Amino acid sequence: MMKCKDGCEFSDWELDDCFGADILCPHCMHKIIKHSDFGDRFVLTSGGFDPLHSGQITSFLKSAELARNLIVVVNDDQFLIDKKGKAFMPQKVRCQIVSMLERVHYVVPAKPSRLHDATVNEILEIIKPDFFAKGGDRNIDNIPEKKLCQDLGIKIVQGMGDDKHWSSSKFLEGWGEYYVYNVYGKRYEQVLE
Ligand SMILES: [Zn+2]
Repeated sequence: MMKCKDGCEFSDWELDDCFGADILCPHCMHKIIKHSDFGDRFVLTSGGFDPLHSGQITSFLKSAELARNLIVVVNDDQFLIDKKGKAFMPQKVRCQIVSMLERVHYVVPAKPSRLHDATVNEILEIIKPDFFAKGGDRNIDNIPEKKLCQDLGIKIVQGMGDDKHWSSSKFLEGWGEYYVYNVYGKRYEQVLE
């Protein structure tokens, strides 16, 4: 199993906790692409997967049709804190779950952006995949990575999967409500007794 070298300081957790697909830093991922066989293509997609849902699974399946190698970038916890206030599962766990999916070949944990940048521009610039696959709810003009991809010759492929019908936040919303009324509520009643 390929692992990140000791010099790769981009995450505060151990990168060799791999169960399935290799979990690599962007630089090591780029090295693999650079030394791959001629004609071997790489497609990159990204997300929070907090939690993973079937809309994202269809996105992986579609993306995997584009190229032999599927790279999944997993957003950092700060990205999720900025988006919804808190990460449901830490990045390490989300990376491990995604790495166990059969069609996923490489997992790259995103590093928190210094600029609180919600794009994967920094990672695309290092990895330079052949394709950048986006989920169903984006059209080519509102993809913030568009210019960078054009400059680097990365082909953007949109409409991957039907993730617009699903939302990780919706799952958590429903669960949160349940938790407040049924779990926390019961404990609160016990305190009052
Ligand atoms: Zn590395």
